[in-house]
Amino acid sequence: MDADTWRELRCADVIVGAVDGHSPRWSLNTLAVQYRGHYVDTGTLISDESGTLDVSGHVATVTPDGPCLLCLSGYDPGQASMKLDPGLTAAKRAAGYLSDTPDEPTPSVMFLNQAVASVALGELLNIVGDWHTPRPYTLVDLGRPSLTAMHAETSPDCPACGPDSTRGLCDAARPPRFTPPEPPPHM
Ligand SMILES: [Zn+2]
Repeated sequence: MDADTWRELRCADVIVGAVDGHSPRWSLNTLAVQYRGHYVDTGTLISDESGTLDVSGHVATVTPDGPCLLCLSGYDPGQASMKLDPGLTAAKRAAGYLSDTPDEPTPSVMFLNQAVASVALGELLNIVGDWHTPRPYTLVDLGRPSLTAMHAETSPDCPACGPDSTRGLCDAARPPRFTPPEPPPHM
């Protein structure tokens, strides 16, 4: 994210993310935490690494006083047994925090994207209309198929939203470092 985008987005009440990879999610999460905004993150994954075709996605909702996206990716640090949950593992992969081959292109399939986008729209409407109890993380699995709502707590030591973070500091926090664009190659 460049500095101009950061400045534009910091005034947004809600950000809906449809980005690939760790870095842009980290930027949007930092922005939402620092400016106490809402951030609806989406992700999809198609994989056959386990021998079974995994067609899944997630919708994670970061709220001003709730767990951030990093907390949600760690999801439930108090329950180590959850690490063995294949659904949780799929959710982490979909969030971009687990990948054995990060450089490998991920296929994009319309029906999966549409399903995840529909769930995200429901969460967006819930932010403005409060029609259901908060769902920090929803796993969309089109292989089984199922929707799984997962609860989450804020991690007290989270570097992104914990006591040492920029949570709620708005413009009082030091601006993030932005990497300048690469200069054009010499002709
Ligand atoms: Zn956090």
